[in-house]
Amino acid sequence: MRGYLLESHRGAATVETVMTGLEWEEIPWGPGHHAAARKLHKRITGFVAVCEDMPELHNTVTLDPDLKDSNGIPAPKISYTLSENSIKMMDHSIVRITEILEAAGATQTHAVAPIEYGGWHWLGTARMGTDPTTSVVNEWGRAHDVKNLFIVDGSIFVTSSGLNPTSTLQAMALYIADQMKQRLETLFD
Ligand SMILES: Cc1cc2nc3c(=O)[nH]c(=O)nc-3n(C[C@H](O)[C@H](O)[C@H](O)COP(=O)(O)OP(=O)(O)OC[C@H]3O[C@@H](n4cnc5c(N)ncnc54)[C@H](O)[C@@H]3O)c2cc1C
Repeated sequence: MRGYLLESHRGAATVETVMTGLEWEEIPWGPGHHAAARKLHKRITGFVAVCEDMPELHNTVTLDPDLKDSNGIPAPKISYTLSENSIKMMDHSIVRITEILEAAGATQTHAVAPIEYGGWHWLGTARMGTDPTTSVVNEWGRAHDVKNLFIVDGSIFVTSSGLNPTSTLQAMALYIADQMKQRLETLFD
């Protein structure tokens, strides 16, 4: 279900090449380190797949019952499990990416999924929709429950989207501003 974006990267810089080589045990410490590093240097490239994660009721952001900051404000508690669909999408993307790299002449390939250090696209939790029981804002960004509150950011996305989100966020900001302008006289009714 849904899909993903493939993002090709330029080759890695020196330190990244060495760190990657160490992690994948292609480069040893000690004797042979320089020779192995030279072998990989300027010969690594890669792809990232940005998969569209679907909304699921068991994935939640709630207030932590115990953990608080120095002002006593509860910390957010994130509960998340990868869905079968997302796992299938990741597996599918790895097969496609491996095909592309091998067709381009790659002699070795490595895959990591999901990436360990990521989570850069924080989307959802106040999603847009026409039904107040399943969404937070209506189809033009106004909160269902609070008539003079508009939310205009990544939280109103309905899925994680299978791409980099900033252009869509900007388009939504323009769209919601336009909707507000058209409704000025009855905006908070
Ligand atoms: C490392 C990294 C790389 C990325 N690369 C890309 C990329 O290449 N392409 C792409 O499209 N997207 C990229 N993204 C994602 C993109 O930057 C975000 O999805 C986007 O900025 C989210 O916009 P936003 O308006 O929803 O939230 P944000 O830009 O996070 O804005 C939220 C704002 O609210 C403020 N705020 C928070 N709490 C309060 C409060 N209580 N009171 C007042 N203000 C508050 C914050 O200070 C912040 O200014 C990347 C993100 C990261 C972290």
